[in-house]
Amino acid sequence: KKLGVALVGLGSYSTYQLAPALKDAEHCYLAGIVTGTPKKEKEWMEKYGIPQSNVYNYDNFDTIANNDDIDIVYVVLPNSMHADFSIRAAKAGKHVICEKPMAVSVDECDAIIEACKKANVKLSVGYRMQSDPYTNEVKRLVKEKPFGNVQYVSSDAAYISRGNPGQWRLNKSLSGGGALVNMGVYSIQSNIYGVGMNPISVSAQEFSTRPDYFKNTDETITAQMEFPNGTVAHMFTSHNANANRLFVSFEKGWIELNPCHSYGPLSGRTSKGETIAYPHKSQQMLQMDDFAKHILTGTPNVTPGEMGKRDMIIVEAIYKSISEGGKQISLDLGNMGIVG
Ligand code: NAD
Repeated sequence: KKLGVALVGLGSYSTYQLAPALKDAEHCYLAGIVTGTPKKEKEWMEKYGIPQSNVYNYDNFDTIANNDDIDIVYVVLPNSMHADFSIRAAKAGKHVICEKPMAVSVDECDAIIEACKKANVKLSVGYRMQSDPYTNEVKRLVKEKPFGNVQYVSSDAAYISRGNPGQWRLNKSLSGGGALVNMGVYSIQSNIYGVGMNPISVSAQEFSTRPDYFKNTDETITAQMEFPNGTVAHMFTSHNANANRLFVSFEKGWIELNPCHSYGPLSGRTSKGETIAYPHKSQQMLQMDDFAKHILTGTPNVTPGEMGKRDMIIVEAIYKSISEGGKQISLDLGNMGIVG
């Protein structure tokens, strides 16, 4: 059986990445849409063969509870709307994929996790990198130690934003933050899988060069993470620079992915002069198939809600550090969000 997915919010990510990926997925397909823009209904119904009975708007969305064609609701809206729609999806008895960042606060992440538990539905966060073979190769090298132990990790996740200054990503009440919540979550994730454990403290700095454009969202943030075994990781995230890289330094060598968080193809190399290369596959297809398999056959949930919540705890600690002049903030995460 293929599980039916309903996309909520038909913006650029749904249009150009998720819907095409669902065409190629093995274990799920695009069964329905939820949109606030009536003219998109017809276009999507025609393009993807979606029946009228599987088309919803934001007001009648809750009646999706009565629709057996829909197994998974995928929330692809501005960040401040993730919690509301994820909770409504859970209450409708549907499994939930919530885009990254999971929400705009740790409290909201808790509310989503709680709602999914209560409704006995599965929850995952749209961290496509966790299904990517390059990420899994980094995890393998960290775990199997062919280069020895990890001693230092550095990751960059940034692009230059020059678009419409009115866009939701630059409006804190819709985005919950700037570069850190949008791109920085990739750096947080890659530092964690680059070291293979969760950090115990973080300190951070914020930089601003275009305050007229980035009025109430962060432009550039650097942060340093400390890990229980003494390893240090550095991260750089920005809406005002292009950078997309992961560097892991081991006792006896290093690996680098560059690019490392883009949709691919990614590219990697090692200090031995070897390349890390895999045939390109849609990360979104792999991610949605991983979640469908989790639901259908009980394979691990590679991006559980606890992972999204863990990252939001770190995001909040980074903002706290910045507001306290770069002070080191302790974290008590244990193995939270670490899978496998
Ligand atoms: P977008 O601006 O292209 O689309 C947003 C959608 O939300 C549109 O369909 C818009 O009509 C709808 N919407 C409803 N209420 C809105 C409001 N008040 N203001 C603005 N739009 C509103 O954004 P996107 O790039 O598709 O991002 C959507 C979500 O997907 C975000 O959470 C983003 O972080 C996430 N995303 C994830 C990835 C990834 O690689 N995992 C990539 C891109 C976006």
